[in-house]
Amino acid sequence: MKILVAKTAGFCFGVDKAVNKVEELIDNRKTLKPIYTYGPIIHNPQVVSSFETKGVIVIDELEKINSYDKGTIVIRSHGITEREVNIMKKSGFNISDSTCPYVKKIHKIVKRDSEAGYEIIIIGNKHHPEIKGIAGWSLTKVHFIQHLEDVDNITINTKTRYSTVAQTTFNTELYKEILNKLQNKSFHVIINETICQATKDRQIEAKELSEKVTKMIVIGGRNSSNTRKLFEICKDQCKDTYYIETIEDLALNVFTVNDTIGITAGASTPNNIIEEVISYVRNVKF
Ligand code: SF4
Repeated sequence: MKILVAKTAGFCFGVDKAVNKVEELIDNRKTLKPIYTYGPIIHNPQVVSSFETKGVIVIDELEKINSYDKGTIVIRSHGITEREVNIMKKSGFNISDSTCPYVKKIHKIVKRDSEAGYEIIIIGNKHHPEIKGIAGWSLTKVHFIQHLEDVDNITINTKTRYSTVAQTTFNTELYKEILNKLQNKSFHVIINETICQATKDRQIEAKELSEKVTKMIVIGGRNSSNTRKLFEICKDQCKDTYYIETIEDLALNVFTVNDTIGITAGASTPNNIIEEVISYVRNVKF
């Protein structure tokens, strides 16, 4: 059996930075001041629960921030709305902003274009925290497109100007199809290319890898939307693609001695989990 591991598997720059920030705060905690993250720091339950055992508290509702003891609150790489930033600033907590710079750039585009009167079209999943954060920087109406069919449901006013941005981890192929369909509607629209390069590289490599293997393993948290997209891309090329969170989810009896196994992982999958899966698969006995 042969194993091929994607070079792009694992933490991206933005996630790495956010996780390192929490680790740094834990290491430098000289007093017993609490450390909070606004929402789980990344979409990986193992990392979140390991931080919880070190005393990091996840705050889910910002409205309740004043019921917590003052401390440091970390904004995760997905970013937050302008309103949430303002609530945090007034709260008296120290703010450690780990919003990924690529996401911040989108906040600025949305604010700038909506101030200029453009309505905003966001291509992505409106329930994802990154998209909720981006939408919260707009002063004008926001439209959401997640699927190709959603383009039909947008009511375009030819007198209105529109500006589009995309979720940083959006599926690049679907993005192209959506843009083509959108541009066929003939209206004034600015296209801002905001899918991040790390995502593009990871998706391209996953596609190429899954084309040449007999079985594919995609590792990542169940709530990780970028891992879900990787899984969909791989599944299109290789029907025996498995989406796992840890080795516990992997049934070893599906592998055969003649298999070539491809392994990739989402942007919020820690290296130790990837290494564990590689070594587990490597040691399969036939
Ligand atoms: S996927 Fe890209 S935009 Fe998102 S956190 Fe990672 S580096 Fe930043």
